[in-house]
Amino acid sequence: MKALIKYEAGFGNMRLADIAEPVPGKGQVKIKVMAAGICGTDLLIWQGRHKVSIPLVPGHEFSGIVVEVGEGVTGIKIGDRVTTETTLETCGICDYCKTKDYNICSNRRGLGTHVNGGFAQYVISRQESVHIIPENVDFISAALTEPLACGVHAVMEKSNARAGDIAVVFGPGTIGLLTAQVARAGGLKVVIAGISKDTTRLELAGKVGIDYVVNSDETDLKSFIMNLTDGYGADLVFECSGSHSAVKSGIEILRKKGQYVQMGLFTNPQISIDADSLVHRELNIIGSRSQKPSSWITALELLKLGKVNTKLLATSIFPLEDWETAFVRSQNGEDVKAILYANEKPEF
Ligand SMILES: [Zn+2]
Ligand SMILES: [Zn+2]
Repeated sequence: MKALIKYEAGFGNMRLADIAEPVPGKGQVKIKVMAAGICGTDLLIWQGRHKVSIPLVPGHEFSGIVVEVGEGVTGIKIGDRVTTETTLETCGICDYCKTKDYNICSNRRGLGTHVNGGFAQYVISRQESVHIIPENVDFISAALTEPLACGVHAVMEKSNARAGDIAVVFGPGTIGLLTAQVARAGGLKVVIAGISKDTTRLELAGKVGIDYVVNSDETDLKSFIMNLTDGYGADLVFECSGSHSAVKSGIEILRKKGQYVQMGLFTNPQISIDADSLVHRELNIIGSRSQKPSSWITALELLKLGKVNTKLLATSIFPLEDWETAFVRSQNGEDVKAILYANEKPEF
């Protein structure tokens, strides 16, 4: 089958290859991939900045059709339209596994990072991770369930967001745009903040219905938020940009007792912040890492009900053969989410 493989560590070292079709083992499902999104992690793998098992087929955001099931699989059958969590294996015995917090199991092995992922014609997942796509949701929308579930985890599972709260999302990339939409779906008023290089992404934020879109190179974000909140500050901040200045600004614009949720990762994570203000203003600092099974159930429900629009974020689609063009476009910020397909082209 056709697959994109990272064949050696270091920059680049990725090529289209013909590899053996995988066979589902006990409790596993073989999926024909219909749409696979390129994520920041895939770019880091390509650039040699994210350590992975070699050789590897990257890709962890995808949807497809079940073509084969392994021994003992129940509830999933051939022909089902599905998407899958990225978890293929967990230790199953740690405290986190017991509560299905697989995202923080230290021995988790994930699709597209530790084992072969979705930039191929076929991929194997485990039954427990596979979810049926609602009938009214197309393959491209469903391929974005993973980043959507990251937004669900942060907003609905990690924070105490309540309807009517004012949230500020930093960074209008895929995660930011989806986190903002989840917050809106929960009845929050949402401000999304970016900088001038994000102009097209900020426009997209307007199209998906985010309440306030702010270019902080042009508008003073702090004054904007203070005006909006009678001088109190925002109830919540979701930091999705991984930029030092966003962290500082995020802490500054929160109201007392506000919640700061860190989702973005940093090139250099050593940041100096005003730690006294955490005390004086009784701030809550929360980390939110990827997603877990419960986040997927909610994410698919939001898609089914049309409460979020993931499809508008898919800004281009390429056959797997053109992966390099798609990766370069994604790296340059020309796409919010570029989609690859290795079988027939999905409806776009
Ligand atoms: Zn991702
Ligand atoms: Zn575990």
